[in-house]
Amino acid sequence: MKTFTRLLVAACLLLITPLALAWSNLGHRMVGDIAERHLTPAAHAQVAELLAGEPEPTLAGVASWADELRNDDPEYFKRSSRWHYIKMTASCAYEPEQNCPNGECVVAQIERQTALLGDRSQPLAARRDALKFLVHFVGDVHQPFHSGYRDDKGANDFQISLTTDIKPEAYARSRYVDGVMGTNLHSIWDYYVLTSRKLDAKTYADLLDSSSPWPTPAKPILATDAPAWAGESCRLIDARHLYPDGHKMDIGYLDAQRPLAEQRIRQAAYRLAALLNETLTN
Ligand SMILES: [Zn+2]
Repeated sequence: MKTFTRLLVAACLLLITPLALAWSNLGHRMVGDIAERHLTPAAHAQVAELLAGEPEPTLAGVASWADELRNDDPEYFKRSSRWHYIKMTASCAYEPEQNCPNGECVVAQIERQTALLGDRSQPLAARRDALKFLVHFVGDVHQPFHSGYRDDKGANDFQISLTTDIKPEAYARSRYVDGVMGTNLHSIWDYYVLTSRKLDAKTYADLLDSSSPWPTPAKPILATDAPAWAGESCRLIDARHLYPDGHKMDIGYLDAQRPLAEQRIRQAAYRLAALLNETLTN
């Protein structure tokens, strides 16, 4: 009986242990954190006003909200779950009628949420949600496999056995056996490529933001640029050989691809800052 009780307690603890990191939390946090450092004072004041009352009222603090809806508001998550990605055509072109029917894709949602955010006649709550979605979606569209073209659900169907000492997130722990993680290529990019650098979000964001000077965009960054960002992501998949030859992987792949992942985080952050400056300052 004692053993049974102990097992029961252990099982309950497992169930109530919160996820250490939400889905790909590290990358999203860094996008929000770096972007916030490059806001104009006027845009920054608007962001502070919109996020007042949030548990963590910063762009980093709300960057994973759109993913956390999965547990916090399943109905809202269901309605918005198609907004995190797009399946492009084989030529990596954006054909709205074909790959974004009814605006149900990340590209159209970046445009829609930007319009909502910039519309001062909208209720504050609607503009706050728009800001939280935008921080997340600009991050997502820069993850190459959120804008893929193959019929494999953004490489979610491409299985990987990863030899790693990185502990998986709580929900995936049962698939980590003897140092080998059963996962897929999408998750490798969402989580393992960046996490394997073993830095906390703040230290990592400091490093990426200081790694080279802030590039001044040649022209204003607008939400209508989102199709181009999706196109870049899509073309990177083949240009940078993101699909490995086999299904076994170790730190070699993660190390080789990490500079590209870091570059996409920086691009997402700088573009998000410029977009917010444009939308909230004018
Ligand atoms: Zn997402």
